[in-house]
Amino acid sequence: MNSYDVIVVGGGPAGCAMALDLNRHGYDIALCDQAKFPRDKVCGGFISPGAEPILEQLGVLAPIEALVPKRLKGVAISAYESAELAIDYPAAAKTGLRPSSLSVPRYQLDALFLRQAQRVGVKVFERHKVSDFIFDDGRVVGVRGWDETRTSFSMRAKLVVDAGGRNAVSLRKFRLKREPRGRGKIAFSAHWRGARLPDDYCYMHVSRPGYTGISAVGNGQVNVVLVVARSALNGDGVEKSATFYHRVLMKNRRRREVLRNAERVEPVRSVESLAFTVAPVPCGGLVLVGDATGFIDPFTGEGIFLSLRSAQIAGEVIHAGFQSSNFSRSFFSVHDARRREEFRGKFLLSRVLQRLIYNPSFCDRVLDGLSKNQAYAETLAGVVGDILPARKLVSVKFLLQLLAGNFRFGESAVLKEAP
Ligand SMILES: Cc1cc2nc3c(=O)[nH]c(=O)nc-3n(C[C@H](O)[C@H](O)[C@H](O)COP(=O)(O)OP(=O)(O)OC[C@H]3O[C@@H](n4cnc5c(N)ncnc54)[C@H](O)[C@@H]3O)c2cc1C
Repeated sequence: MNSYDVIVVGGGPAGCAMALDLNRHGYDIALCDQAKFPRDKVCGGFISPGAEPILEQLGVLAPIEALVPKRLKGVAISAYESAELAIDYPAAAKTGLRPSSLSVPRYQLDALFLRQAQRVGVKVFERHKVSDFIFDDGRVVGVRGWDETRTSFSMRAKLVVDAGGRNAVSLRKFRLKREPRGRGKIAFSAHWRGARLPDDYCYMHVSRPGYTGISAVGNGQVNVVLVVARSALNGDGVEKSATFYHRVLMKNRRRREVLRNAERVEPVRSVESLAFTVAPVPCGGLVLVGDATGFIDPFTGEGIFLSLRSAQIAGEVIHAGFQSSNFSRSFFSVHDARRREEFRGKFLLSRVLQRLIYNPSFCDRVLDGLSKNQAYAETLAGVVGDILPARKLVSVKFLLQLLAGNFRFGESAVLKEAP
């Protein structure tokens, strides 16, 4: 049986970032993914500017740039058919330059990530579905599963990282997934050609029964993601999703303007049960990263950044684990605690926004307040874009001002950068 230092399950952004990070430290890594790449995924494909230093460190920024990707200046928000308020990311204190966010179809991004892992020596096994773990004395020491020829395989390692996303094998095996009752959401997405977007922003349109994120992805195409409460389908099964998706998109005047002469160029894809939390892993030898650690909602669109960053944090803890030959559950719970602590402020902001966007008078107040205070608006965009530290900015005062739509502080948005 083949044996490695680390087996990574899943070749999405979290798994590839994990494999690339550990490979840089000289570990022997195997990465298994059930898919054959390139493969697509329901996602806005909008990468927070805060992710760029990580992409660069992992050696994937240059290949992404070689695709000549679309770059977006920030977000443009419309609530209940109001005119869009365009908010740029704040300029960097040192250079005065404004960052932008990459907008790359996941079909390209994930394949590029996986090929980079292969190029640097990670042993990549596509069409290898991991179905279970191998245990020794209660600790995970490997995986077993099925390859593309339906032949069973098994591999051993000192440590397994599960980066299998929202359907990760660990979540099923240990029943770790916790879904909120009664408030389930569903997302639909498809690429379109011929849309008319006024400028290079990610366009967020909030109106009943949900919101859309529309952004250009290059090659004359835009990605249109719709998120609604599952109950909005009114018994129209997911099989009627294309009809529902079109109906809801075209109900909104601003979206009609954007999509009037556009045509959808691929089938509508959907994903259910968007938000969930994850209970702690019950054994040693196993670490979760990326969406496998939980997901809130794509409204603030930072899942790729969080996946990359959670892999970075895990990398530090795993490296320390190898140095002290400690692969115990309690040792790796440090990773969990650090991740929770770092993302707490951002998650709080995300939760507050998701609850309140369905209240038209709140949205009116906030957009009006933001339009009158550019510094505040850019600060918010900076936090959402992961270039300003959420913990420092998401204070009780900030949230109260947000709720009141009353942004009086006069600080420039060019004020603080992530430490
Ligand atoms: C509607 C929607 C829109 C979004 N928009 C954005 C956005 O604009 N920007 C952003 O940053 N984030 C966005 N996100 C979030 C983002 O898509 C995720 O956070 C991100 O994909 C998580 O990466 P990951 O590597 O953890 O998981 P994934 O990307 O899901 O990758 C998991 C991989 O694991 C593999 N796998 C799973 N199980 C197994 C198994 N048993 N054996 C082998 N392989 C396995 C899968 O094939 C897959 O390749 C959005 C999410 C949704 C739902």
